Amino acid sequence: MADPKGFMTTPREEWPRRPVEERVRDWDEVYVPGALLPIISKQADRCMDCGVPFCHDACPLGNLIPEWNDLVSREDWRAASDRLHATNNFPEFTGRLCPAPCEAGCVLAINQPAVTIKNVECAIADRAWAEGFASPRPPERLSGRTVAVIGSGPTGLAAAQQLTRAGHTVAVYERDDRLGGLMRYGIPEFKMEKRHLERRLGQMRAEGTKFRTSVAVGRDLRAAELRARYDAVVIATGATAWRELSVPGRELDGIHQAMEYLPLSNRVCEGDLAESPMSAAGKHVVIVGGGDTGADCLGTALRERAASVTQLDIYAQPGAERDEDIEPWPTYPKIYRLSAAHEEARDLETAPSADADARLFAASTLRFTGDGSGHVRSLHLVEVDQARLPVPGTGRTLPADLVLLALGFSGPDREDGLIDQLGVATEPRGTISRDAGFATNVPGVFAAGDAARGQSLIVWAIAEGRAVAAAVDHYLTGSSRLPCPISPHDRPMTV
Ligand SMILES: Cc1cc2nc3c(=O)[nH]c(=O)nc-3n(C[C@H](O)[C@H](O)[C@H](O)COP(=O)(O)OP(=O)(O)OC[C@H]3O[C@@H](n4cnc5c(N)ncnc54)[C@H](O)[C@@H]3O)c2cc1C
Ligand code: SF4
Repeated sequence: MADPKGFMTTPREEWPRRPVEERVRDWDEVYVPGALLPIISKQADRCMDCGVPFCHDACPLGNLIPEWNDLVSREDWRAASDRLHATNNFPEFTGRLCPAPCEAGCVLAINQPAVTIKNVECAIADRAWAEGFASPRPPERLSGRTVAVIGSGPTGLAAAQQLTRAGHTVAVYERDDRLGGLMRYGIPEFKMEKRHLERRLGQMRAEGTKFRTSVAVGRDLRAAELRARYDAVVIATGATAWRELSVPGRELDGIHQAMEYLPLSNRVCEGDLAESPMSAAGKHVVIVGGGDTGADCLGTALRERAASVTQLDIYAQPGAERDEDIEPWPTYPKIYRLSAAHEEARDLETAPSADADARLFAASTLRFTGDGSGHVRSLHLVEVDQARLPVPGTGRTLPADLVLLALGFSGPDREDGLIDQLGVATEPRGTISRDAGFATNVPGVFAAGDAARGQSLIVWAIAEGRAVAAAVDHYLTGSSRLPCPISPHDRPMTV
């Protein structure tokens, strides 16, 4: 701790975002380029180097947060990068995308704003790339063992990098035409520019990981054939089976799932399409679902120049402070948060029929009505109480030319036949069953990430990838020195 009084003398300051008017005119990241490094050492100085650092416990990766805060406050960037990469393969992803459970668990957050841990992480990662500290680390010798990883999201990529570095010959199979899972075609460019993904993929290729895109295992390649070709298989196929909204009028044109809509705007950014065929331009858009996927639709629709955008959340508006009785420190509380997309909607006043930031809370969709030619025209909703029962007299109608359903995901989709062809057992809710060592019921086949845990976060996906790599390494060689940050049964901290 370079400054033992930093937490008393320095107020919390976050990486500033670009002005709303400017950033909604492009797809670049929302932050002011170059504005993080000048402030970050003073921010790292706010860390108290706690004897029992709850930030560390609150992070599934077990990131060594007090250590790298100290190194950043002393501007020892190389050592900070080493400590950060010791527990996290892809800190530039989490530094931009993680909701930061570590900050909710920061001891300083008991009576002051938390240390800006996520910003410190991002600064170290970006500096590491700029200085050349993140160079490829190919293995010194090969084990002669082979592993197939199915799925190239953060789980599959973390598992592949760990196993490649341990000396195994690893091939990643991906059914999309590009790598990255939900980070490629789900998460919009304005949250994380894809160049960060490309740079890591370049590092992984240089280390020896092989990638096979446009191969849906089960459909394009029989799963049994893949199993026979490799000594071990890791299923990291995500949880992409979306939840439906079964209300009258759902069949009308213009009502789409979020994950039908977001990939198209991501393809525009990739240069595959001049314009999204589902573009929100000039339309009244209603997003059903109050979570982060809904917020990504909101930011995307604003950049496509929608006439209006409203986001419906079935839950009541949370308070600004944590409820100490229900979600005490150091748990991650449900409080009112203003994402970049909500800030944009508020400033642009794009939802005349909703609250200031485009959200309508405690709102339940009753039905859709069409324009007489089969296209959606309006959405009818009602306010609900805590038991989700309609509050009499609160019915409303919103204009809706484009409706986006962002209701979450139930588990892995089975359409490719991979799960059935391998004979892998699943849980009643659809996720893949596994034992305490990440092994499925099929010998040599392991499962990790959202496919087995259920819909989660990138930080958990990376932790799953690292942990399954340790399990596979042990299976192949009889022992492993790879770190195993979590067990399959670990969950976010609760009371
Ligand atoms: C729109 C959206 C925004 C999100 N934003 C955030 C965020 O800001 N922060 C955060 O922490 N989390 C976020 N999440 C959650 C996060 O993206 C996921 O938890 C994470 O990506 C899961 O990683 P995964 O590797 O397990 O699966 P995925 O990322 O889903 O990757 C699975 C991959 O497997 C491939 N695949 C599936 N079946 C096959 C097959 N048969 N053969 C070959 N390949 C196959 C898929 O094409 C996919 O590329 C978001 C999720 C969504 C939907
Ligand atoms: S809990 Fe907060 S103040 Fe304590 S070591 Fe972690 S980041 Fe620093």
